[in-house]
Amino acid sequence: MPWIDEKKCTGCGICIERCPVNAIKEEEGKAKINMNECIHCGTCHDVCSREAVRHDGEKIPEDVKANVEMTKKFMEACAKYLGDDKEKRKCLMRMTKYFNKEKLVAEKTLEGIEKLKNM
Ligand code: SF4
Ligand code: SF4
Repeated sequence: MPWIDEKKCTGCGICIERCPVNAIKEEEGKAKINMNECIHCGTCHDVCSREAVRHDGEKIPEDVKANVEMTKKFMEACAKYLGDDKEKRKCLMRMTKYFNKEKLVAEKTLEGIEKLKNM
């Protein structure tokens, strides 16, 4: 999924004009993508001469850090609201299950979309 690096975006408006589904708007002089409308066509990335439209992959370290921090926060909240340290470990187990489920969904999705090659 594309995202805009606000430090690089000059607000020139080219991507806004070229987006085929009007998913990009200008906010305070910067382009902003509405991900609910984006169809992932890649046009904004191709037309931006400032390299301000970035790829999702660049956010992997940031996303991993956020997930680890979220897990830590839930563990501490479970211990606080449910009473003891055993709850922390139970919470960690639930979060492990959750991320394993997400991994499985991603793997199965990749298998599913592979079949779309013949569409
Ligand atoms: S084309 Fe690039 S610099 Fe111009 S508004 Fe879009 S993201 Fe910003
Ligand atoms: S990827 Fe395509 S649809 Fe999505 S914001 Fe960019 S130009 Fe618009």
